[in-house]
Formats: sequence, structure tokens, C-alpha cells
Amino acid sequence: MTVAELDTAQKPNVIAGLHDAFEAHKKAFARDPYPSYEARRANLQRLRRALLDRREEIVDAVVADYGSRSRHETTLAEILGVTQPIKYCLKNLRRWMRSDSRHTELHWLPGSSKVVPQPLGVVGIISPWNYPINLALVPAAFALAAGNRVMIKPSELTPHTSDLLFRLLGDVFPEDLISVHRGGIDVGIAFSTMPFDHLLYTGSTSVGKSIMRAAAENLTPVTLELGGKSPAIVHPDHNIKHAAERICAAKLFNAGQTCIAPDYVLVHEGKVDEFVSVFQHYAAKKYATMANNPDFTSVINARHKARLESYLSDASEKGAEVIDVNPAGESFDDAGNKLMPRLIKNVTDDMVIMQDEIFGPLLPIVAIKNLDEAIAYVNDHPRPLALYYFDFDANRQRLVTERTHAGGMAVNDCIWHYAQDDMPFGGIGPSGMGAYHGKEGFDTFSHHKSVFTQGRIAGTKLMSAPYGRFLERFMDAFLR
Ligand code: NAD
Repeated sequence: MTVAELDTAQKPNVIAGLHDAFEAHKKAFARDPYPSYEARRANLQRLRRALLDRREEIVDAVVADYGSRSRHETTLAEILGVTQPIKYCLKNLRRWMRSDSRHTELHWLPGSSKVVPQPLGVVGIISPWNYPINLALVPAAFALAAGNRVMIKPSELTPHTSDLLFRLLGDVFPEDLISVHRGGIDVGIAFSTMPFDHLLYTGSTSVGKSIMRAAAENLTPVTLELGGKSPAIVHPDHNIKHAAERICAAKLFNAGQTCIAPDYVLVHEGKVDEFVSVFQHYAAKKYATMANNPDFTSVINARHKARLESYLSDASEKGAEVIDVNPAGESFDDAGNKLMPRLIKNVTDDMVIMQDEIFGPLLPIVAIKNLDEAIAYVNDHPRPLALYYFDFDANRQRLVTERTHAGGMAVNDCIWHYAQDDMPFGGIGPSGMGAYHGKEGFDTFSHHKSVFTQGRIAGTKLMSAPYGRFLERFMDAFLR
């Protein structure tokens, strides 16, 4: 059955099916609450093998959902972007699973203390459309590495990919280890009310609040991977060519539909025009044509395209200058949902484009007088998911790192901090809470249980009633 069919007659069954699936996962976890290193390793290897074996099928599904999406970008983000973190988990899993001995004070000896990482149980994952394989399967891989069972609710906006995920994971894993639950927002709402042992949600900040409210009813801990407006600051002395090339590449990757795409750029007021012409130059080098170029990706659907176009008309009406980025001077009339990239000058905070996350190939340029003004601007706005800073001066790099808040940061590049396997990935404030990737990914889906083991001869006996001189002397010694 496809997502389209699910969205009509079968909806009540799908929601009831969620409860059955949850119970099945829970029972299976109770039978095997601590999967061995070998079993976890085998699961990760099976997932990796499936992605490699069915690589073309996966890319076809994602491209079909977008209408037009770069096959290179799709392979990079959805295949390599998942197999690499899996390899990283395989490399580190044995070490992560070890218990951690902790210090025990002299007077508690011969007792000992340790922290034991333990699987949580059943983990729920709600994923969005913009990287529909990566954002479902990377969290799933970390949850499996930590020994959990997983239920996934993929996005209804990428039905081909969601159907493929359902088939692919069904072919490879027992359905009480990892299951996929397709459907629209109502299925998402029902999914978020399940008493998971952990719920990871990736999507918009507004829905993130609903997810947290629903999870609070069950005291289910959440990891929220949200969005926001990620700024790119170019230091006034920095080479504009260098910055514009990196910003252009990151902004046009997946047509700007990346949670960590540079949302807007802060450039010295005397260099705005140079930035515009260098950005145009690099856009033309990367995409000689756009409308029919399979490497330039479509906006996901007509609704999102209309949303982006409304930002442009609102900005124009309020006095912004909108500059086309159209290397071959093409018409986009017959280009489906592809949207011509634009640079936007003379922006002000009352424009919607400077308030909402853009999530498309539009780049506003904020003119600044100096670095302090750029830092003040960023700090005066909600804390973003990412911040980019272009400058080769190490002292100023440190200053910007220390004086601004963002989920993550890249210096002299954009977006690629996401691909550093050994670092956590997550937001701060309205851009999210918690993290996965890196060792932190394993920790997110584990309970770190403190275990104090008492020795055969225990001094604690002397600390219980009837109280006497021993305890008084002991306390005197430590209260000094
Ligand atoms: P979306 O519309 O596909 O929604 C995401 C998921 O939430 C879907 O599975 C959907 O069915 C479900 N959903 C929607 N409403 C729900 C509700 N009320 N209750 C429960 N589930 C519900 O995706 P989107 O929200 O448009 O995604 C884009 C946003 O995601 C952007 O803001 C982007 O920045 C953010 N994002 C963040 C990250 C990250 O890692 N931090 C990654 C990608 C995207």
C-alpha cells in the first residue's frame, strides 16, 4: 500500500496499527533488553549493506519525490551521508558499550562505582522531507547501535521515499526491531503521543513545540532537531571571492532546502556589490543553466514554491532590491517547481524573508559596518542551528565562537560541520535541543546507569542508627 492510499480509507487502521507495533516492539525489547555487541554490529552492517545494494533504487525514489533533484547530491547526502556515520558507529561501538569506572572515596571502599550504558527501549523517530533517507536512518543507526528498537514516521511530502523505506527496512529487519509508519500529519500527531522511551523529531520549530507537548504527557525525553535562520558573517577584511564561493555552493545545494543552509549573509556595506557579482560568477560556473539542469534541484512542491515567491513580493513591496541569479537568462515557466535563485539587497527586519527560515534558493544580504555590528545583529535574533564565519584571523575566529550562540559552527566553510562524524549535531533554543551524531548520538539513545557495588565488608553499617561516636568523629573529620 502506498502513502497516497494510506491517506484516505486506511487512516484509522494505521493509527491503531501504531499501538500494536509499539506493543510488539516493547515485548521484543523485554525479551532481549541488552543486545550483544555482535547483534548490534550485525544490525548496523545489514543497514549499510541494504543502502549500498539498493543505492540506485533509493536515489530514484528521492528524485521522483522532488521531480528534479541532483543525483550526485542525493548519493552524497542520502547514501554516503548514512553509510559514513554507520562506519563510524561500527568503529567505536565496542568502546562506547563499555562501562565507565568512577572514583570511589576512601571511606566507601571496598565498594566500587561505575556508569553502565544501557539501551532505553523503544525509540520513535519523526523525520522530514528535505533529506528523507538521511534524517530517518542516521538517528535510527545510532538508536540501533545503542541497542534499542525503532519506529519511524517519515514525511508525507516524500511518498516514494517513504514507501521505499517501508519496503527496504521490512526486507532487512524483523518488524519488531525497526518499523516504518507512513501517513500524514494526523499519523504524526498520533505517533508523537506514543509512550516511547525517547522521541527524536526533525522538522520545523513550530511543530517541535507540539511534539514536546505531546511527549510531556508520557514524560518521554525528546531530542528536537529544528530549524532557524543560520547566518554567514564575512569579516570586512576577508576575501569576498573565497566567502562567496563557499556560500554559493552551500546555498544552492538541494536548492537551499537544508536546515543548515546559510539563510542570510552579513557583508561589509562597501563590499555588498562585489559579493553580488562574485556570487553570480560562481553560480554561473557551477550551473551554466538551471531550468533544465538535473544538478539544480527543485523546490519540493508548489506550496513551498509559492511560500518562497511570497517572501520575494513582500520584500520588494517593502523596498528590497531583488537580483536574479540566472546564468543563462532562462525562463523558469516550464521548469516545474524549480525556483530561480535570487540575492536580496536592502533588507529590513520587518520583511518576512528576514523573520522566517527561508529554506530555498534565496539569499538576503545584510550590510554591516564592522564585526561588532554583525555579532550584535546575530545575538539580537533567535539562536540559529548553524553559524558561519569567514576570516583567517585565529583571534577573531575565537572571539566569534565565544560571543555568539548557535547549534554548530563552521569557520571558512558552510554546512560541512554536519559531516564530521566525531562531533555532535543539534540545535540550541529555538533551533533544537539535544544532539545526535558522534559519541553523543550513542549517549542520546542510552541510559547511563550509575551502579555502586558494595563490598562484603561495608562501612555504611556504621552510618546507620543507633548513631554513636564513630559517626560523630567521621562527620567531624569531613566537616572541617
Ligand atoms: P515536514 O513537513 O516533512 O514535517 C516533519 C515531520 O513531522 C513529518 O513526518 C510530518 O508528518 C510530521 N508532523 C507534521 N506536523 C506534525 C504534528 N503536529 N505532530 C507530529 N508530527 C507532525 O517537514 P518540515 O517541518 O517542513 O521540515 C522542514 C524544517 O525542518 C525546517 O525548519 C528545517 O530547518 C528543519 N530541519 C531540521 C534539521 C535538523 O537536523 N535540525 C534537519 C532537516 C530539517
